[in-house]
Amino acid sequence: MFLNRDDETKPTKIILFTSETKEFYYELRYVALEGLFKCHSCLKLKKHVGAKLYKKKNGEEYLMHLENEHVCEPKKYDALNFEKPKTVPKSMFELYQSAKGVANKRMVIFTSEMKDLIYEYSLTGNLYCCLECTKLKKYVTAKLMGENEDKYLELSKTEHVCKPKKYNPKNFKK
Ligand SMILES: [Zn+2]
Ligand SMILES: [Zn+2]
Repeated sequence: MFLNRDDETKPTKIILFTSETKEFYYELRYVALEGLFKCHSCLKLKKHVGAKLYKKKNGEEYLMHLENEHVCEPKKYDALNFEKPKTVPKSMFELYQSAKGVANKRMVIFTSEMKDLIYEYSLTGNLYCCLECTKLKKYVTAKLMGENEDKYLELSKTEHVCKPKKYNPKNFKK
């Protein structure tokens, strides 16, 4: 399984399962200088363990392992850690002033196109946190990404433990 393969900004990684059951894996990162994928955990232990990617004539790719054995422990695989973050398009959230009048401190995310129910967020650092969930000691966050018209949100994987509220635009100021 490949990660970040089409992402120029991040190194390509290979998730290498230790068995068919896909319970454990090693993570190999591409080292461009050497043209090799290397196990980062082993590298930390000063061992060069990795593989080289080859392509057959029919286009099929395969890995040839280097001779060294892993000295690191394989990691437990949890598909959740590899899912792409959920995103929210610009049409489904609004930014507002805080009670003290600071712009963009408040945010509401609509639960549906009907825009009758919302989760309310407040900016802390560079993350918006769901207010009701925070009270319940759950940190459900959203990060504002992109510029101007291309703005969108990336949501944390934590699910809301709060219930969405009725949206009343009168309660919010731009
Ligand atoms: Zn390793
Ligand atoms: Zn919440």
